[in-house]
Amino acid sequence: VSETRLYQPNDKSPLQIFVRAKKKINDIYGEIEEYVNEATTFINALHSDAEIVDKAERELFESYVYKVAAIREVLQRDHMKVAFFGRTSNGKSSVINAMLREKILPSGIGHTTNCFCQVEGSDGGEAYLIKEGSDEKLNVVNIKQLANALSQEKLSESSLVRIFWPRERCSLLRDDVVFVDSPGVDVSANLDDWIDNHCINADVFVLVLNAESTMTRAEKQFFHTVSQKLSKPNIFILNNRWDASANEPESQESVKSQHTERCIDFLTKELKVTNEKEAAERVFFVSARETLQARIEESKGNPPHMGAIAEGFQIRYFEFQDFERKFEECISQSAVKTKFQQHSSRGKSVSGDMRSMLDNIYERITIFRNLKQDQKNLLTERIQGTETQMMQVTREMKMKIHNMVEEVEEKVSKALNE
Ligand code: GDP
Repeated sequence: VSETRLYQPNDKSPLQIFVRAKKKINDIYGEIEEYVNEATTFINALHSDAEIVDKAERELFESYVYKVAAIREVLQRDHMKVAFFGRTSNGKSSVINAMLREKILPSGIGHTTNCFCQVEGSDGGEAYLIKEGSDEKLNVVNIKQLANALSQEKLSESSLVRIFWPRERCSLLRDDVVFVDSPGVDVSANLDDWIDNHCINADVFVLVLNAESTMTRAEKQFFHTVSQKLSKPNIFILNNRWDASANEPESQESVKSQHTERCIDFLTKELKVTNEKEAAERVFFVSARETLQARIEESKGNPPHMGAIAEGFQIRYFEFQDFERKFEECISQSAVKTKFQQHSSRGKSVSGDMRSMLDNIYERITIFRNLKQDQKNLLTERIQGTETQMMQVTREMKMKIHNMVEEVEEKVSKALNE
């Protein structure tokens, strides 16, 4: 992967909410793991003494070790996922490229995305792709090669190609955002499969529309199915190709308000996923192609307007940035909630359960220790009693012997005298 400037990290990005939460929960789970391992080692050492810990308890402790290790693994892989939908050629791949600030996904005529493409960060500066059902890393040197690799084999429309792109090339990849591009919603009858296989864990959906036409039934139907399967999905709507409106300045405002009204109605009255106020913050008028060109110019050190396609570039460019900001806030908050809330309550219940089990064991140990102490005391008392008895007996014996000797002596001297 070649010469584009490396992205400068921006720690004020709303994505940092997720990044910091992920670090924190991973650290906490690291501590829980240590605690669980230590406790299990301790319990196993006690196990030989069946009076204190039984087999079932020991197995329960061991099950926590596996449980915590499994959660830690999931946590390390957790990311924020955004999925893009819309008709073919509305500009889904272009929007993703504009957000990534680089032409990564092939777009345009002859490059119809005919399977799901997931773009995610790779460590170590490598760019490669992995096809579904294979572990083989196919090296990607440039966009042309990627496009060829994607079109070489006939991939099923619901299969997934994962494209790994160096994290340090883009802040969104660095901060664990994963992008999913889909085949056009107009080409598939398997919406259920699509949603089950690729969308269930998406934090945000972006519907990319063509601002030059109206929303189609296929586009609406897809989101109806999504909102039946997921409770209140986060949906953003991009009216793309808005640069085309510059050709008809007299109708621009009326077209915009018509589209806005329809999009807000769709989100609030049809899908019922949000309220009017929030919906108004979810609808944007952008030009993905222009934004991408502007960013490529920026990366070469040129002013962004060199990428302009038509009049009104600045407004569209700001609108795209505004979309990105709101998108970042939404995805990081949603991902923290959906991904970490469950893990943190599981962590709490595991450590709570272990604590009460250890409390029980401690109690049993205390009882056991007291019992032993009592037995010891009893034994000591008995020994002491025996000693006193012995002394008594000895004393009595001594007296008896003494008396006997005296008696014998008396008898002997008496006999001698006689
Ligand atoms: P997809 O099939 O939805 O992924 O659409 P693509 O991103 O491949 O875009 C299809 C074609 O539309 C490409 O030639 C893009 O350059 C072009 N395109 C995408 N976005 C815009 C835009 O905002 N304005 C203009 N004028 N063309 C665009």
